[in-house]
Amino acid sequence: MPDSAGKPSNIETRLFINGDFVPSISGQTFDVINPATEQLAASVYEASPEDVDRAVKAAKDAFPAWAALDASKRGDFILKLAEAIEQNLEEIGYLEAVTMGKPYLKPPYNWVGHHTVEGLKFFASLATAVAGETSLNTNGFVNLSFRQPYGVTAAIIPWNGPSFMLCNKIGPSLVAGNTMVLKTSEKSPLSALTIARLCQEIGLPKGVLNILSGFGRPCGEALAKHMDVRKISFTGSVPTGKAIKKAAAESNLKNVTLELGGKSPLVIFDDADLEQAIPAAAVSAVVNSGQGCILSTRLYVHEKIFDRFLDGLKVAMTKIGGEVNDPTMEATSRGPQADKIQFDRIMGYLQYAKDQKLDIVLGGGRAREPGYFIDPTIIVNAPEYSRVMKEEIFGPVVCVNSFKDEEDVIRRSNDSIFGLYASIFTRDISRALRIAMQFEAGSVAINATSPLTAFDMPMGGWKQSGDGREFSRRAWESWMEQKTVYIKL
Ligand code: NAD
Repeated sequence: MPDSAGKPSNIETRLFINGDFVPSISGQTFDVINPATEQLAASVYEASPEDVDRAVKAAKDAFPAWAALDASKRGDFILKLAEAIEQNLEEIGYLEAVTMGKPYLKPPYNWVGHHTVEGLKFFASLATAVAGETSLNTNGFVNLSFRQPYGVTAAIIPWNGPSFMLCNKIGPSLVAGNTMVLKTSEKSPLSALTIARLCQEIGLPKGVLNILSGFGRPCGEALAKHMDVRKISFTGSVPTGKAIKKAAAESNLKNVTLELGGKSPLVIFDDADLEQAIPAAAVSAVVNSGQGCILSTRLYVHEKIFDRFLDGLKVAMTKIGGEVNDPTMEATSRGPQADKIQFDRIMGYLQYAKDQKLDIVLGGGRAREPGYFIDPTIIVNAPEYSRVMKEEIFGPVVCVNSFKDEEDVIRRSNDSIFGLYASIFTRDISRALRIAMQFEAGSVAINATSPLTAFDMPMGGWKQSGDGREFSRRAWESWMEQKTVYIKL
């Protein structure tokens, strides 16, 4: 891919409401800064609560006709959209690179484009799988249950996988017959507007999907509080998840699904295949510059192999994540952090580690300037109670601690407010399954680790990592109401 391939001649910055691009009512814009150059990427129209109102109205008006379509027709639209996205991945990749710094094509970093398209195709295939139940268990009755769409749904997404997150929300909601208003992250609003243009091009009926750029407050909050929104699905941080549940409770008690943060443990036993474990741990540490909810950031390594593993991890993280550059350039394998806020946050954790005199054995600082680049960093044997062990850093920073026995490492792995993902490397399958059962996490990988997921399997968090599940063959379920119908014979 030549440098800057995919750059559109005209970058769309307006809101997408009722099938049209429109400026915000106030005319207000906000600036998105390219994190690799610290230069302006675009000034984008900012949605206000009044814009939320008109987007929700468009979605409400579009709902009856969309819900009345044959499910297979809705699936066809989603499939067409997936194919259109596939044809425009360079443009989408370019816009994500200049807003939140994700490099685009080079493996193993191109999984986002692949996941976006394949995920949407998978959701399209579920359109006709929606089904209720029948029961003859009550004498003299035939009882049925219907699955029906909520109506207007909303989604609020983060910036770390903009198009991927968008497709996770719109796919199951729209095939289920809902319409939607989706708010992108203020850090990465542009690629979603390309997808909005593709919705126009494939002829998606007006108002079925509306896309707003804007901040958590007031735009996201207005969506979470809106009385005409029946369901909201949110991916982002724990504090925002709590704010959204509160807003839903204080308004119309809309249904809420939350996909939140993580601090995922990865346990490596002394019988592990280190040829596999080391590169897997390194990819999980630096992929997407460490900006992933499911990435393994607390590594527990058996004391017998600790030194060997650590030496290997240093080499692998340097090789896989050490070379940073402008993410729009072909050779770039790792980009900057998403913006100055994220950069400062991670640097704050690195300063904390230095202040606490923790043992930083790799990296620990800024990689280059200009741009918000941070070195792959390893902190060794930090106390379990320290902030770097407890809090989500969301950068290319891992903590590696040693352990001796199984019971102790399970207790330490589970000693977290999060429960999104956990991994184990061992050749002992009984031990692997025993521990898989004891991990308090929504996903467990054995002899593998994140970012591994599968579309047809449920994905979500235990404890404060979330509420509800995405993906799976029943991905539509959380986007539908149920109704039981009792028929007296
Ligand atoms: P964030 O919570 O700051 O923001 C997420 C979204 O919520 C943004 O669109 C933001 O504008 C909006 N928002 C902020 N305040 C709001 C409010 N009061 N009301 C409504 N909306 C509001 O999170 P982030 O920094 O964008 O993303 C990083 C976080 O997301 C991390 O914690 C990460 O672990 C998590 N994440 C989770 C998953 C998952 O599937 N579990 C996936 C990716 C990211």
